Amino acid sequence: ALQCGIVGLPNVGKSTLFNCLSNAKAQAANFPFCTIEPNVGVITVPDERLIKLADIDKPLKIVPATVEIVDIAGLVKGASKGEGLGNKFLANIRDTDAIIHVLRCFDDENVTHVDGSVDPVRDKEIIDAELQLKDLETVETRISRVEKMAKTGSDKSAKKLYEILLEYKALLQSGRSARELELDETGKALCYDLHLLTVKPVLYVCNVDEASAVNGNKYVDMVREAVKNEGAQILIVAAKTEAEIAELETYEERQMFLEEVGLHESGVSRLIKSAYALLNLETYFTTGKTECRAWTYHKGSKAPQAAGVIHTDFEKGFIRAEVIKYADYIALGSEAAVKEAGKLAVEGKEYVVQDGDIMHFRFNV
Ligand code: GDP
Repeated sequence: ALQCGIVGLPNVGKSTLFNCLSNAKAQAANFPFCTIEPNVGVITVPDERLIKLADIDKPLKIVPATVEIVDIAGLVKGASKGEGLGNKFLANIRDTDAIIHVLRCFDDENVTHVDGSVDPVRDKEIIDAELQLKDLETVETRISRVEKMAKTGSDKSAKKLYEILLEYKALLQSGRSARELELDETGKALCYDLHLLTVKPVLYVCNVDEASAVNGNKYVDMVREAVKNEGAQILIVAAKTEAEIAELETYEERQMFLEEVGLHESGVSRLIKSAYALLNLETYFTTGKTECRAWTYHKGSKAPQAAGVIHTDFEKGFIRAEVIKYADYIALGSEAAVKEAGKLAVEGKEYVVQDGDIMHFRFNV
């Protein structure tokens, strides 16, 4: 499963955010959250479209897409040198597909800051530095292994890898992250097994007080300025407020309180959607009387690859796909009506699946 790791200094609001995410009540009735381990949760991806489809088909089962969220607590200054439980946490980050970096953007005298003052940009740099130092170690180890072959042998791949490693080294040494170096496909393949931490896509979550939930505050502005060259996304979330809202019993109550704060959609919902975009993911659906289900695929996938998400046999034996646009299905109300209106398209293996498509795959076994 796809996994996002929540990182940040102590006391910035990571567990508060994790608890918001993991609060079962915050989910629609059929969308349970389950905790695998104390710090790992599986969260269902909120998607109104799935609910609308289920309203039409009344299936026995509704299966939303899911993302795993891991609360990676305990990352502190010195972690890359094994400080605290440093290495263990860094190993946890290695297993994730994307990083959610929580930054404290709220004042509160009752919540101590490990560095004595609120400064999200400094905090971000502390965490970044630890990740970069760990990557530097990884890169240097690899350099010492390929150096000889790259310099003396005729192996083109070794030479190319060596050059990339040197670029990474320079970048990391200057306090920048590996994701800043753009690689071509060959380069990516050569570096795949390095599993660098700072290559992973990152989403910054500015944890603010309630009054700043909509427009942010001076701390958010500082973060925005600091990351403007990273091309990274920033999300403003009032974690504590949202944790309180998530405690409310009914969806209507929660929605009412959200509107009161000035929000239309919960931070959790925005966070998951952003994580999806960050990972370049989209959703297609399969629907029928037995099951209504959301499937996650990489944006730009062609029909056979998207079918492979359901089962590898679907990809191998792919013949064609019958595709209905979500809007048509909702407007016409049934597959039969869609067919009659001539809106069911039969697509071949070159078809690029679009977000929201309702797919039916035909395949050979
Ligand atoms: P973690 O160490 O990063 O997991 O931080 P926690 O989630 O445990 O939060 C540390 C403390 O800050 C807790 O007492 C939270 O209630 C509090 N806290 C978290 N978010 C906010 C916020 O947005 N505003 C305020 N005032 N307090 C918060």
